[in-house]
Formats: sequence, C-alpha cells, structure tokens
Amino acid sequence: CGIVGYVGSTGGDDAVDVVLDGLSTLEYRGYDSAGLAVPTPSMAVHKAAGELSALEETVPRDDLAGESVGIGHTRWSTHGAPTDANAHPHSDEAERVAVVHNGIIENYQRLRDDLADAGVAFQSETDTEVVPHLIRRYLDRGADPETAFRSAIDQLEGSYAIAAVFDGSETVYAARQDSPLVVGLGETGTYLASDVPAFVDHTDRVCYLEDGDFVRLTADGAVVTDGEGETVDRPIETVAWDP
Ligand code: GLU
Repeated sequence: CGIVGYVGSTGGDDAVDVVLDGLSTLEYRGYDSAGLAVPTPSMAVHKAAGELSALEETVPRDDLAGESVGIGHTRWSTHGAPTDANAHPHSDEAERVAVVHNGIIENYQRLRDDLADAGVAFQSETDTEVVPHLIRRYLDRGADPETAFRSAIDQLEGSYAIAAVFDGSETVYAARQDSPLVVGLGETGTYLASDVPAFVDHTDRVCYLEDGDFVRLTADGAVVTDGEGETVDRPIETVAWDP
C-alpha cells in the first residue's frame, strides 16, 4: 500500500517514469494490485491486479511520454478482492477525476448507498470508489476542483492518504488522516509519497504532512492547508538517505 504523485515543470521528468519508479521503491510495504493516472492532456487511467510488472505491461508508454503530472498506487485490499476493477485509481463515470487511497473509509457504505440512490453506477467493490463520485457531485454543483476535493474529504470517516488529479489539470490534491504522506520539493518538480524512498533520487527536501492536512501540489511547490483552508507551515527538512 503506497501512493506516489508528481507534478513536473517544463523540462522535468516523465511522470510515468517517476510514478512507476516510485511505486517500485514502495513494494516493501506489500501490495496486491497497482495503478496510475495521468490527467494530461486528458485523463488516462491504467491499473492491474498483481505485480507492478503487470501494470507496466498495461501502460501505453508512448502515448503518455513527456506528460508531467501523475499519481500512482499500490493496493493492499481491505474492501473488495484484488482484481483489475478494484485496483486504484478510481474515477467518476466521465473520468473528470481520478483518486488513489490508502486506508479504510469507515462510513463508505452509507455514502455508497446515497450515491447509488442518486443514480451512480459503481465499477468496483472498494470503499475508495465513493470518493471520486462525491468529488464529481460537487463539481456538478459548480465547485472548483479544490473545493470539490475538500468537500468530499470532509464527508469521510476513517483513515486515509488520498491523492486526486482532475482531467486536463496540472495540479495534484491530497489529504491525510492516520496514514502517512510526505511531500518532496525538487528543482524541476514536486513529489508526493507515502514514504521518502519513492522520490529521494530526485530530491532530499521533504515536508511531512500531519493528520487533517490538505496539500495542493504544482510544479512550483506545495501549499499545505488545514481543514478550514488556512495555510499551515510544515517545516521543510533535508533528509539524509542512503538509497
Ligand atoms: N481500502 C482500500 C481498498 O481496499 C485501500 C486499501 C489500501 O490501503 O491499499 O481498496
């Protein structure tokens, strides 16, 4: 179970490379499936049960070459069998948003019932899939992506490290509660991961998120906010890491 995210600047690294390399460094955490989303120029989601090599075979590298934004996930199933459909990222029906999640959403059944009553057709058995559909509901009501993301997270009870990307957008949004997330600040891009090894080849400047934090990642850096949307200062540390 691991999360990787990346937003590169022009001349930065290839997002698919960063995400797949990052996921491979998180394999030690254990997983049964893997997936990634690249939201530019339009949303592409690829996932596969099994080893990372199964995902690598699924990803159309040539089509996604040179893209600078991506999120990736290794899944340790808690709700739903380790199948392709249950692998993350999960999306709304129009793929406006793609979401990866580590942890457990305790109140997912009630949220799922509400969404199903409103006509949402679920594609998986996971607790996670309620999140993209909730985000989509707020988008449809006119919310901007960040507000839609925050409003959806506010509905959740349980533990989560969650990252989301929006169709055509070069911003990654994330939040954490009882599941680790760390931001990496590089020269040519900004990184997100469950653990430092996922990006330490690229940067040793890190910023650990705390429970209740939200973060917005762009190529220029990261802005951390609390539940009320107020900016919070999380110290930037330099890690000594022997890869
Ligand atoms: N609860 C989610 C699932 O079963 C996420 C599991 C994880 O932490 O990887 O899909």
